[in-house]
Order: sequence, then structure tokens, then C-alpha cells
Amino acid sequence: MIELPEAIAFSKQINETLVGKRIRYALRGQNPHKFAFPQKGTEQLGAEYSDADFDRILKGRTITKSWSNGNVILMQMDADYLLSLGCGGEKIIYHETERTLPKKHQLLLTFEDNTFLSVTISGWGEVRLFKIGDLDKHPNIGYDRINPLSDEFTSEVFEKLIEEIPENRNRNAKRFFISEPGFRGVGNGVIQDIFFLAKIHPKREMSSLSKEERKRLYETTRVELQKMVDLGGRDSEKDLLDNWGGYKRRLHSKVVNEPCPVCETPIVKEQFGGGSIYFCPSCQKAR
Ligand SMILES: [Zn+2]
Repeated sequence: MIELPEAIAFSKQINETLVGKRIRYALRGQNPHKFAFPQKGTEQLGAEYSDADFDRILKGRTITKSWSNGNVILMQMDADYLLSLGCGGEKIIYHETERTLPKKHQLLLTFEDNTFLSVTISGWGEVRLFKIGDLDKHPNIGYDRINPLSDEFTSEVFEKLIEEIPENRNRNAKRFFISEPGFRGVGNGVIQDIFFLAKIHPKREMSSLSKEERKRLYETTRVELQKMVDLGGRDSEKDLLDNWGGYKRRLHSKVVNEPCPVCETPIVKEQFGGGSIYFCPSCQKAR
């Protein structure tokens, strides 16, 4: 799944590779996908555009710049339209020739120089077109959440978010990071290594963290997310050029029952909070 670091990496590569390219054709909807957003017939931003509208609007437009916000990748088309991708599981690949095009895709842009961009959704993801003035109506950016790599995300802000947890509410670390309140662009992927390195169990109640644990968790979050960005995303995700990201994950499905790199206790996998969690039961105590 594309999360904050991968969205940043994609935007950087789009700026380096695709900016200046003019679109000859835009083909959306060749392989309809149930969880491609926006879904047809809804009130969601961009849902009013048909596959034919996509081609009509994008044809002749030039990609002028790209940036990301959370796990959403934005591409500006001339001065007035935005295309947003990402926000889930997607292969977004630049092709120098048609030989490497995938058979199935949810979007194929053909550029005037005979190069291509294909987008293939797995699970869910978005291929959304809208007017640039409507960016603040985007439903998947998570404007109400703080960007954990921004300057405004200080240790004081982190402390305050923990203090604001209502007294009678449980708020484990996983839930706190990905949904309540949640950090922008942070999902069930990036938290695994952050929690492992900070020695915090994903089920741990946030309000029970000591001062030292809070400090460690805040600092690890900042440092590891930045490393993931600097290395072009995690090694579970492919980049625009079809290469794996350079950040080597420590905890993932292939190390279950393997010795913890710190203490050699076997790594455990559990289903928790809608998705798998991985942890070392010795380094990361649940309480
Ligand atoms: Zn361990």
C-alpha cells in the first residue's frame, strides 16, 4: 500500500520524469475496478467524469508539476486540472516503450513522445480528475490530520494529542497512529517498523506510555518516516520506474517466527485492528 513515504517518492519521480509531457490519449475504464475511487454514481469529487470525459479533458494537456499530500499523489495538468493517484494499493509505472505495458490497468496515459504511464489498482486506490480549485474538497487527503513530517508536528503536539484522549476511551498505539486521531498518510505499513524500533507494542494503550516512551516514539516516528522518504519508499512497494523502494523493512510477513534482530525472540504476527501486526513479544511489551 502506498503510504506517506511512497507518495512523496512518486511525486519526486514524476517531477523528474513526466513533467513537460503532453498527453495524446487518456484511457480510463478498460478494466473496471470495484474499489477505484471516485466510484461512479456517487457524489464524490470527480465522480461526474465519465471515461470519455477523461480522454476529452486530458487530451492535449501537459503535466506541469506533481506533489503529494498524505498518501495521495497529485499531478497538475496545465493550469486548471489535477489528477490524483495513490491512496491504496497501486502500481504506477512509467513506460518508455509499449512493450512493458500491463495487460490490465485502470488508467493508461499515452504521451505525445510515445511514452506511457499506467496505473493498476490492487485492493483499492484512486484515479481521480478534478478542477484544481476543488483540492480542499478531496475526501482522501485527511486534512483533519497532522502531517507527521511537517514542522508543526513537534513533540509538544504529540504529547497534546495523547493528553486529549478521553479518559474512558481505549486508544492503542496502532489505532492512535492510523485512525484516532491518525497521522496523515500513515497506515498499517509504516507503523510496524516505527513501533518495533521505538519498542512499543501496537496494542499498547497510548495513555499508559511513560514520558521516556513517548519521547522515543515521537523521535522514532520522525526519523524512520524521513528515512523511508530518503530511500524512495519501503521495499514492499514499487516506484515509478518499476523498482522496489530502498527502505528495508525489519518486520513483515517473511520474518514471522524468525529471531528478532535485537533479542532473538521469534517475531509474532497477529490480526489486530483490521490488518496484520508484527512484533517482538520481548522487545515490545503489550502492557
Ligand atoms: Zn526482540
